[in-house]
Amino acid sequence: MPELPEVETIKTILDDIVKNKTIKSIKILRDKNILNDPGFFVSSLVGQTFLNVSRIGKFLIFHLTSSLVIISHLRMEGKYFEGKVGDPVEKHDICIYEFTDGTTLRYNDVRKFGIIKLSKEDTYLNEPPIDNVGPEPFSITKEELYEGLKKKSGPIKEALLDQSLIAGLGNIYDDEVLFATKINPKMEANKVTLEQCQAIIDESIRILNIAIKNGGSTIKSYHPKEGVNGLMQNNLLAYGHGNEPCSRCSFPLRKIFIGGRGTVYCPRCQKEEGKPLIIGITGPIASGKSTISSYLKDKGYEVIDADKIVDSIYKNNDFGQDLQVFLGDIYENNQINRTKLLDKMIEDASFKKDFETRIHNRVFSIIKDKISKSKSDKIVLDVPLLVPSPIEELCDLIIMADAKEEVRKNRLIERGKDPEKAFKLNKTFQRGKTIAHSGLVIDTNGTKKELIAKLDSLNLF
Ligand SMILES: [Zn+2]
Repeated sequence: MPELPEVETIKTILDDIVKNKTIKSIKILRDKNILNDPGFFVSSLVGQTFLNVSRIGKFLIFHLTSSLVIISHLRMEGKYFEGKVGDPVEKHDICIYEFTDGTTLRYNDVRKFGIIKLSKEDTYLNEPPIDNVGPEPFSITKEELYEGLKKKSGPIKEALLDQSLIAGLGNIYDDEVLFATKINPKMEANKVTLEQCQAIIDESIRILNIAIKNGGSTIKSYHPKEGVNGLMQNNLLAYGHGNEPCSRCSFPLRKIFIGGRGTVYCPRCQKEEGKPLIIGITGPIASGKSTISSYLKDKGYEVIDADKIVDSIYKNNDFGQDLQVFLGDIYENNQINRTKLLDKMIEDASFKKDFETRIHNRVFSIIKDKISKSKSDKIVLDVPLLVPSPIEELCDLIIMADAKEEVRKNRLIERGKDPEKAFKLNKTFQRGKTIAHSGLVIDTNGTKKELIAKLDSLNLF
């Protein structure tokens, strides 16, 4: 979706295209995107001349003779194209302005969310949709922003997207501004300080100005003009860089979802005060997870170990009546018969899946509880099946320990375990997905000593 710098760039290009052009006729190909009666829209505009184009927030304002204005919002993927009268109508064309000089301006919208509205110079600022556009970073005061954010519930990332509070920050520049100000995107908006508001305004102005100078960011839904590309994507430090090292501190940037929007931040530079840094460690069986978690324990991290939680659930029969019933004869003499359980899990895949879901949900709620009660400011979650799980979203960094099957097999034999059985039980581990979700994938094929040297050399913990 184009944001303020992209719309500003499009505005400048459109201004060049339409200035002093007179409308000869208008083709409307999709009524729904025009907020006026289509007949009224066409009859009011034919014979009028474009004077110039301006911008308010992410709205384009075309100013015409007879004090008319056309308000246009591109939403997800609206695009304008220059053309000539007689050019074939393209798929997803919404509206074509034909000018007396034989050229055209075509509005095309693949997603069809864009809007076009005809209004008058003396009223449009006080009518929807413009009346609800808040001040831009260039004009808002820190007190205004502070008062607005104090009234919000939910994370600051989401609050800054509210165009009625502050206009012009979309998903890209919101991430960039929070990165620059070192504010965690998950921080409750109403916890913001006046100093942070000043920083948000200062950084928004700085970043938006650089973006405007660069013609915006070229991302898939943005097109300023045929052959013209924005270059701001080369200056983005957070957006689009999930799992890459932070440009300030080298810690892997984390991508999460806030209000359904992909959000990238540095867990270390943007650490939320009073909240622990949480590192999840995962990997297949015998991949060296425990070496990594004990390394971090030595560095002062509190370790929460999912396998130990499972053990204690079994030992203390801490899983409730319904699981006892589900287990049938595997639950005997008031406890789980572990041998029978493992055998059943190996032979019956659907039983295994069902049982794991039940036990994992219990483990996850215990982990969440332990985190909320922890006094530590850095926590390690050692969770074999972390990806995918509801625990993932709690992590600031996911580390995957990755070792070849052959290496893991030898380790299992050394531990006196049956590798065939162990691998069958570990079949649910999703290697590809885990790699994609991990900020760090560590090759753990070497010795313990080599792994520790590798962790030392990362210099991250
Ligand atoms: Zn950083």
